[in-house]
Amino acid sequence: MGNKKERIKAVAMLSGGLDSSLAVKIVADQGIEVLGVNYSTGFCLTDHRRSMSGLGAPIDPKSVRNEALRAGAQWRLPVEIIDISKEYMRILTEPRYGYGSGVNPCIDCRIFMQQKTREYMERSGAKFIITGEVVGQRPMSQMRNTLKLIEKESGCAGLILRPLSARILEPSKAELEGWVDREKMYDFHGRNRKPQMELAARIGLDDYPQPAGGCCFLTDPNYAKRMQDLFHHTEKKTMSTDQVMLLKVGRHFRINNLNKVIVGRNEAENFFLEKNTGGRAQMNCLEVEGPLSLLEGGISEEAVLTAARLTARYSDGKDRESVEVEVRISGAENRRLTVQPLETEICERMRI
Ligand code: SF4
Repeated sequence: MGNKKERIKAVAMLSGGLDSSLAVKIVADQGIEVLGVNYSTGFCLTDHRRSMSGLGAPIDPKSVRNEALRAGAQWRLPVEIIDISKEYMRILTEPRYGYGSGVNPCIDCRIFMQQKTREYMERSGAKFIITGEVVGQRPMSQMRNTLKLIEKESGCAGLILRPLSARILEPSKAELEGWVDREKMYDFHGRNRKPQMELAARIGLDDYPQPAGGCCFLTDPNYAKRMQDLFHHTEKKTMSTDQVMLLKVGRHFRINNLNKVIVGRNEAENFFLEKNTGGRAQMNCLEVEGPLSLLEGGISEEAVLTAARLTARYSDGKDRESVEVEVRISGAENRRLTVQPLETEICERMRI
């Protein structure tokens, strides 16, 4: 029996949060060889903080570490990070099961990730999938019926073992086949995280991220507002990854139906915008410290002028009569405009 267990492999969907860290440990302790996978959608707050810290933003190192890799190192199991950001655009723009409170397509997102994990499982010769899901913990994707729906839609029916809630769920294949002992699983449910914390203390897991705030941009109300503005003004089919990624940084202003201006809020964001212009017109102040701004949409004199005035408004010259702004448009000579900073009230009306 012991030898047979050693040969069984499972793939764990590992975020590195408390629940998935516990889930892999429970299964690995039963002699199962666990391979961790972690998906990068492009909307992870920690990944974003890490890339901003690379651009000079002051950051606490603990807040930017990759928790999946940390958990893998702690339990000595391999973890593969898989970039799904390109394919994810379809999930984001056309979710079959709609959005949560923000623009988070959680059900479609889970279906997609479970499909990917099933494929990975088949490729790697593993027999089942482990997740840290807890029945009733999240309103959109972890209710009992939804877990079932996601499992079915992803082609994973019966293949998913959820060690933290297994004893209150129908037995999965891993339990039915005797690969794992159901009696050593748990019956956690609901939003109370105390049982998981007590279990963590018992098994010596003391370094895990606190579940403060969200971990995904798509649940953030400000991000959602910007995305909804983009949905409203751009055909979903023509939306680029780049447009969606830029929603994560800067102040955003809708100046007309065709144009939007993004104004950096600090040096790291200015760097980020400069590295991701994607052919957009750029503005920056001359003679005074100020932000870098990008003008999205077609170039017209009126739009360029408004963008330049917005840039001046967020510079150290905001109280001056006029500010010199450099305008860089690809394929054209750089221009220098002398503009009056835009009135705060108008800026606020345009702000998304
Ligand atoms: S919060 Fe929802 S959309 Fe974001 S990664 Fe989690 S399941 Fe996916």
